Amino acid sequence: MHDIMNSHDVIQLVVAGAAGRMGRCVLEAVAIDSRFEIAAALVAQNDSRAGTEIEVGHRRVRLANHWTPHKQSTSTQHPMTALIDFTVAVGTMHWLPVCEEFRVPMVIGSTGHDESQVAKIRRAAEYIPILMAANFSTGLRVLLRLLPQFLRGLGTDTDIEIVETHHRRKIDAPSGTAREILKSLRGNSDENADIIHGRHGATGPRNAGQIGIHSVRLGDAVGTHAIHFGLKGETITVRHTAQSREAFAVGALDAAAWLVHQPPGFYTTIDLPLPE
Ligand code: NAD
Repeated sequence: MHDIMNSHDVIQLVVAGAAGRMGRCVLEAVAIDSRFEIAAALVAQNDSRAGTEIEVGHRRVRLANHWTPHKQSTSTQHPMTALIDFTVAVGTMHWLPVCEEFRVPMVIGSTGHDESQVAKIRRAAEYIPILMAANFSTGLRVLLRLLPQFLRGLGTDTDIEIVETHHRRKIDAPSGTAREILKSLRGNSDENADIIHGRHGATGPRNAGQIGIHSVRLGDAVGTHAIHFGLKGETITVRHTAQSREAFAVGALDAAAWLVHQPPGFYTTIDLPLPE
């Protein structure tokens, strides 16, 4: 997978959320990926672990709560540097202006951003390349591309329910991936029209065209998304299950390796080339 490269080709990677579940997983994936070197492993500003070291593979990595790359000219992109963000929505908003100021491409894996935060991210993408995705796994990426075609085949009289399952410590619902699935199913029409989050009480019959979204929180489940399609006399379920976080971490690294060569713009995993 990795070509022989000289040291100028090695991407200096900054990992925000380095002490979290995903951040650690990215650091572990970087330890065996010759495309990258760790430039910084960032924790939250008030995190007492800043200045301490954590074990990653056979190496120790120092955690920091600040990072300033060498300043470039204000118009050019920082050469071969990228930041991967697996924090929380406010964590993204903390590192976004730093990336914008120093022209550092940003891969955003955090979820739970509100509309105004997404608008700020899109504005920053006028100056730097930003790739934002709620799910970096290859299988989900391929599924998102296929869903519109699949639904066209089933026709408009199809009931759809999305059920997502994640670990008990997840702090946002529905998952960012469930939202991306919704977006892919709704295409150009208003993705938020007639969405129902769970059902309770005298709901009455299901509206035609409604999409149900249900969030299940269980133990240490990494992430499952089931999309149920109901027609007359038959149902179909398409299910994606992440068995480990490694699939997300490797996908985020592939995204960073691609992004450092792109012009400023807002990208998603749909823009990434499919695996060969
Ligand atoms: P986690 O809680 O284990 O880790 C998040 C870490 O970010 C915590 O250690 C927290 O202290 C830290 N943090 C908060 N603010 C920060 C800041 N300003 N700077 C640096 N670090 C900061 O959570 P997790 O399970 O690792 O998930 C992180 C995010 O990634 C969540 O939003 C989750 O939904 C998302 N996620 C995305 C994918 C994907 O493929 N895109 C996959 C899994 C999880």
